[in-house]
This record gives sequence, C-alpha cells and structure tokens, in this order.
Amino acid sequence: MTRVLVVEDDPQLVRALIINLQARRYGVDAAPDGATALRLATARQPDVVMLDLGLPDMDGVDVIKGLRGWSRVPILVLSARQGSDEKVAALDAGADDYVSKPFSMEELLARLRAAVRRTEETPLTSGVTLVETADFSIDLLAKKLHRDGRDVRLTPTEWHLLEILVTSPGRLITQKHLLEEVWGANVTQSNKTNYLRVYMAQLRRKLEADPSHPRYLITEPGMGYRFEG
Ligand code: CA
Repeated sequence: MTRVLVVEDDPQLVRALIINLQARRYGVDAAPDGATALRLATARQPDVVMLDLGLPDMDGVDVIKGLRGWSRVPILVLSARQGSDEKVAALDAGADDYVSKPFSMEELLARLRAAVRRTEETPLTSGVTLVETADFSIDLLAKKLHRDGRDVRLTPTEWHLLEILVTSPGRLITQKHLLEEVWGANVTQSNKTNYLRVYMAQLRRKLEADPSHPRYLITEPGMGYRFEG
C-alpha cells in the first residue's frame, strides 16, 4: 500500500483528500501543521508527501527543507499562492511538483501517481537510452533524433537540454536547474533565461508538429519546462 502524508490545515480539503485517497487504496496520514508533518514523516515513513505551502505554524518551504535533510520522499506541493516565486522556491528547496489550488481531484491524483511512479522507476530511468513518442524517437546513447523518417540534427546545447527533460518525463524542471546544468552554476539568470527560451523554441521547431502549440515540450510560465512523453 502506498502511504500518503497529507499536510494541510483546511479541514474540509483534508476530509475530501482522505476520502478520495482511501477510495483508491492509499494509506493516508494527515497533519494540520508543519511540526506535526515533520514528526509524522519520521514516524510513518510515507511514500509520498502532499504539502500545502500556507501552514499555521511554519512556511511549507521550511517543511520541505526539513524533510530534505534526511529524506528523498517525493513531495507534491499544493499551492494557493498566485506568484510563481513561491512555487519556484518550493521546487528549489526540493519539492518534486506542484498543483495550484483550486485543483481537480483527477488532476491531483494523476500528479500523485506520476510522483510515485518516478521514484519506483528511478533505477531504470537513469538507464533510459531510448525515448519513443508518436512523432519522434530519441536514442540518447547514439545521440540520434529520428522524426518523419529522417534524422534531425541537434546542437550539443539542444541535446543537453533535451536529455534533461526527456529523462524525467512528466516532471517540471525549473529554469534554474536547466540553466545550472547546461550553462553552469555561475550564470546570471536574467539574461540566460532568454537563451533558454530561444533554445526551447529551436527544439520545438525540430520536434513538434505545431511548435506554437507544443505537445511534448510544455512551458510552465515563469517556472520551467516539462516533457510529456
Ligand atoms: Ca493553508
């Protein structure tokens, strides 16, 4: 049984989450505040944590930092905050994904399944060398991209970006992470964010049937990018 720790101070939402999760055979523990969350995480060793950022006793980002001190449990953030800064802060602190409130229960459950699946697949995913979609296939070892019956050429930078995205399918990769991985830790983010946009546009032209309505390389405005396989 997959155990979920729900960290949320809105009792009505907690009740709805418990009902929906238990109906799908998840084991559920609930914490109404950050201190309880950190205690229960240690005591119950959940498989995944669903975390509201606005808690009565501490900031959700500090709960993430506390958990990341000793645990790699996937953390799915539930955020009512509109600005992308807090979400980026949560992702940079070690959250795996976020869902904005209000969310549909179906969307939340899909993200939850994806978060759990990723941890189960981690040993395999790290060895992924072939990525197949309906429109193209990528051989990461041979560095070959095949689309519409022919090879598509990518620059080394495009390869690097694409590799990071496709080896974590469904996962939001922050701009900061991509910039650090591809251009190094010392980049000044403001001007490189433009580079990133340009490179992603190039990748879309090479991969997407309709680059202005991407199906595979999805932008999360102000936050980063996600590969949907
Ligand atoms: Ca709250």
